[in-house]
Amino acid sequence: MSYKKEIRIFWQVGVSRRQVDLVVSAVKLFLKHTEAEDKITVKIGEAIDLRFFKELNYFFWRGFLNGNRIMDYLSYGHQNCNPDFHAILLARSRFFMAVDGKKKMVNGLAEKGRAALVFIDQPGRLKNPYARKRITLTVIHELGHVFGLISEKRKEDVLLSFGRYRHCGRNCAMYPDTGIIDYLDLEKRIFCPECRLELKNFFSTGNEP
Ligand SMILES: [Zn+2]
Ligand SMILES: [Zn+2]
Repeated sequence: MSYKKEIRIFWQVGVSRRQVDLVVSAVKLFLKHTEAEDKITVKIGEAIDLRFFKELNYFFWRGFLNGNRIMDYLSYGHQNCNPDFHAILLARSRFFMAVDGKKKMVNGLAEKGRAALVFIDQPGRLKNPYARKRITLTVIHELGHVFGLISEKRKEDVLLSFGRYRHCGRNCAMYPDTGIIDYLDLEKRIFCPECRLELKNFFSTGNEP
């Protein structure tokens, strides 16, 4: 059975329409490269107030958003009420994730089969072409996780790294570091052949890779 679902884009209060449009383009680029344009529709959601997710304690992290709490809200609160779509939430405030009690600032987070959170920065940053490319790459990377990358059965070229998810060791959007951006032409090829195949199989069968 072929996969059919909607991706709906939400954003932190203060994110601009142009930033949302950039993410719509990034999602469409992802769907083009994975041949899933006829399976997934992209819709615009609404602004969400993230004030309650701001860290108040811990001197260094004060004012940062707590990425783990936002992901719990998106994946198990928000999504359970709205099971028809995968949410992508765009945050202009910095956020962290915590693993084993250690906090780390990250550009994106994802929950397999559910939702993603992407750091979009302040609206003025869009003037910078590198920042636009970084945002596009992060959206594509997190969507890769939402749709199951990287499968447990794959052994070759898989890097394990910080976080819960497996990553790719090739020139690929699933590389664990956005530094890979310098080696990728996002219009031509964003995934290595293995990652692309896993996604294509997922979208055509509906089975996990
Ligand atoms: Zn990742
Ligand atoms: Zn890959």
